Amino acid sequence: MTETTRGAAEGPTDAGVDAKADATPEDSESSVCRVCGRTFPEPRLLVLHRGVRHAGALTDEEKEAYTEAYRDEEAALHSFRIRALAVLVVLYFGVLFLYIGFAG
Ligand SMILES: [Zn+2]
Repeated sequence: MTETTRGAAEGPTDAGVDAKADATPEDSESSVCRVCGRTFPEPRLLVLHRGVRHAGALTDEEKEAYTEAYRDEEAALHSFRIRALAVLVVLYFGVLFLYIGFAG
């Protein structure tokens, strides 16, 4: 499955591409879910996937990794929400003051 995905993504290969492809098989192997076979571009996403979809099949080490990844993801989401709120407030008052300036 990994071979066909990688081959389809890269298209025709030459010597340089083969060397590059040979450098990352460990990465792609570590990002494949051992339960359902789904591939992930980042190991962090695989850890989160395992914790959400296959919570019953986790080892203690995987549970610990999932908990840590979940906390990181939660912190990133919190940060994103605050930044998104700030952008909305700036847009709201920006449009409000523009309206007051042009209409008033
Ligand atoms: Zn899976």
